[in-house]
Amino acid sequence: MTGRPRPAISALPAYKPGRSAAAAEADHGIADAIKLASNEAPFGPLPSVAGAISSGVEQINLYADHGASALREDIAAAVKVDVDQVTVGAGSAGILQQLLLAYCDRGDEVAMCWPSFEAYPVFAMLVEAEQVRVPLRNETFDLDALAAAITPATKIVFVTNPNNPTGTTVGTDDIAAFLDRVPTTCLVVLDEAYAEFVTDPRVTDSMRLLADHDNLIITRTFSKAHGLAGLRVGYAVGHPDVVSMVDRTLVPFAVNGLAQRAARASLAASDEMRERVATVIAERTRVADTLRSAGWTVPDAQANFVWLPVGDVAADLGVRLERRGVVTRAFPDVGVRVTISDATGNDRFLAALADCDITPR
Ligand code: PMP
Repeated sequence: MTGRPRPAISALPAYKPGRSAAAAEADHGIADAIKLASNEAPFGPLPSVAGAISSGVEQINLYADHGASALREDIAAAVKVDVDQVTVGAGSAGILQQLLLAYCDRGDEVAMCWPSFEAYPVFAMLVEAEQVRVPLRNETFDLDALAAAITPATKIVFVTNPNNPTGTTVGTDDIAAFLDRVPTTCLVVLDEAYAEFVTDPRVTDSMRLLADHDNLIITRTFSKAHGLAGLRVGYAVGHPDVVSMVDRTLVPFAVNGLAQRAARASLAASDEMRERVATVIAERTRVADTLRSAGWTVPDAQANFVWLPVGDVAADLGVRLERRGVVTRAFPDVGVRVTISDATGNDRFLAALADCDITPR
């Protein structure tokens, strides 16, 4: 071993990104594989966003605004909060990592329902915090059980709405009731990476909860609905004190200038963004209905993916789909998550699944 890495880091599993189509093609000797494994948007940037990125290229010899102040102002206006309640980071994953760095020491507890976003445990391990994992109920965050799992040592509790990988939601009133049960010494991180795809009427504007709960911080991203995953930009909204702590942990200039420009242009074109999201939602309904008619169990799908809770055949189903050129995300012994793409990509998935020779369950 070269050097003396922290034991917590040498024990850390690397974050596993979704497999690329090229890796699947090489493994199985196939061509034309598609990747439906990372919940990416099926479309490129909006024309105005592409324009903003191209015109920013001439300035990449310069450091961007470290504080991303113009972008923070635009976000504050868009979600109707004060600018000092907004922070910006390198993807919402970057902000989640910053939150753990800012709030958790060795031995502190971080609570979450499980399965959920796979980066939470990695970030907890990074700061040597203890993970408390509460099982989902009916594929959904179990806020009662999660509240009961909070102890005086809990510094952060994650609520993922919609949840990844199951795609289910909890109602905003239920989150309000949950917040009333969480001690103010524990931060509630409401991860809304997929908020723009939600159609469940029980989910309303969560920003209103901030007025009564200084320990609430809401994270969102430009990666999914805005289709800017490759540029790495996300934001969080919360109490100015929390924002200030998070800001201290940002790597200098981590949110690059092209990302800032693109995010601002995308916010300015939110009607166009919403039109694109509507096409994804329509496809999500079509895919889920088709799967259910074929006999598959598909929990309510509120994000840009569907979840097949197939249990012990998950890994096998993942490989069979991959051999047929469709790369999904299999969680061994739990289920398979499939990103909603355009109609052509979704039809490829549905045809591959029908051809897999696995009985729907
Ligand atoms: N939260 C959840 C629930 C996610 O699924 C993801 C991405 N897969 C993220 C956060 C992070 O996304 P990004 O860093 O691209 O904003």
